[in-house]
Amino acid sequence: MNPFSDVVVVGGGPCGSFSALKLARFGADVSVFEEHGEIGVPSHCAGHLSINGLRRLGLYPLPAKIVENTFYGAIFHSPECKKFSVRFSSPVTCAVNRVLFDKYVAKMAEDAGARYLFNSRVKSLIIENGVVKGIVVRHEKETEKRLFNKIVIDAEGISSRILRQTGLSTLNRRMLVNAVEAEVENARDLETDVVEVFLGKAYAPGLYAWLIPKLDGRAKVGLAAKTGNPKEFLQRLMFKHPAASQKLRTAKICRISFHSITLGGPIPKSYSNGFLAVGDAASQVKPSTGGGVIFGMTCADIAAKVVHEALRRNDFSSEFLSAYQKRCDETLSFDASVMLRIRKMLNAMPDDKIDDGIAFCTKLGLDKVIDKVEDVDFQGMSLLRLLWNPKMVMALFYFLSLYLSANP
Ligand SMILES: Cc1cc2nc3c(=O)[nH]c(=O)nc-3n(C[C@H](O)[C@H](O)[C@H](O)COP(=O)(O)OP(=O)(O)OC[C@H]3O[C@@H](n4cnc5c(N)ncnc54)[C@H](O)[C@@H]3O)c2cc1C
Repeated sequence: MNPFSDVVVVGGGPCGSFSALKLARFGADVSVFEEHGEIGVPSHCAGHLSINGLRRLGLYPLPAKIVENTFYGAIFHSPECKKFSVRFSSPVTCAVNRVLFDKYVAKMAEDAGARYLFNSRVKSLIIENGVVKGIVVRHEKETEKRLFNKIVIDAEGISSRILRQTGLSTLNRRMLVNAVEAEVENARDLETDVVEVFLGKAYAPGLYAWLIPKLDGRAKVGLAAKTGNPKEFLQRLMFKHPAASQKLRTAKICRISFHSITLGGPIPKSYSNGFLAVGDAASQVKPSTGGGVIFGMTCADIAAKVVHEALRRNDFSSEFLSAYQKRCDETLSFDASVMLRIRKMLNAMPDDKIDDGIAFCTKLGLDKVIDKVEDVDFQGMSLLRLLWNPKMVMALFYFLSLYLSANP
């Protein structure tokens, strides 16, 4: 059977396109199937990314039109409006326009030789004797086609429909949160060089709410919640939160979208015979913040290198592709497991303890410790590097005692 393409990528999000880009640059024959008619649309992401993370991926500086703003740090608001601010000496994160960012990565992949097929939904995998041999795809209203290939990279995002068919365990549904992301105009008194984070179960149970100012005067506002209706939480944040409402009461929502975020950490196994999963499909997302772009693209890069080697050896066996898992684990698993513990600990703390914790960090002057952090993505390692500092140790013990007093 002649292969349609050596490598098929399911999904033209940032992770699928980044794998395609890297593989096309290796000279591989790669096709990306995207169910929508346009890359990046609909957009559902705040696009808050670390500058170092983008640099590591070779993507920074980005074209100016993609970057909406850059940030020197963050202000954390506790439920009762205690504040903890961290400010770095140079910008550490940026907000990107996700539609333009996704298109930029896809265009680079296309320029490098990857083929994009739009309005083409991969319905299922062709699996023979436990080996993924190809895909069943439907282009618009046409009848389904069976297309054979050497390997499938699943970058379908959070839905996990394709992944489920392989029998691999999918992401932890108990750690999914429902998110809302809005763009607003007429917000007041925005501090344009920092992002703001609002903690508290009354506004965002299971994660937090965010306010990301843009340089054009608008702002991105969003939150994620484990239970309840995210839209109602957003209304409450904008009109009732003692700090957020000062800025957002007058704001008008210009765009709004809803989507889920996976916070359970990477799935334990993301490969099988002729198959790899990258990005949200493999839950390669920071459990502390829900940020998945940098982690997912980091693994997409690893996937491309392993697939390139598999093509060279003509070996698509599960045994060979396990190198992908090994390298992703070496890169992410320590940090992801630390972040998952922190996430679970924060989720288990009542609001008054979060108030105490935030107040303690400010009193301790922890900002002058954290502003030395070099990496905001790999938070486990960053935390470990700060443990020489007595203030950091005190803060950790304090949070632990708050947690234990609430969860005896
Ligand atoms: C509200 C919200 C805010 C967020 N904010 C941030 C943030 O600030 N920073 C950050 O790093 N992360 C953030 N994230 C997470 C981030 O959006 C994801 O981690 C990231 O988009 C994952 O990229 P991906 O390529 O794996 O999947 P996606 O971006 O979801 O792309 C998957 C693509 O696959 C296509 N597709 C799916 N199924 C099929 C199929 N069967 N056939 C063909 N095509 C298919 C989809 O149409 C889509 O284009 C946020 C998420 C949400 C919901």
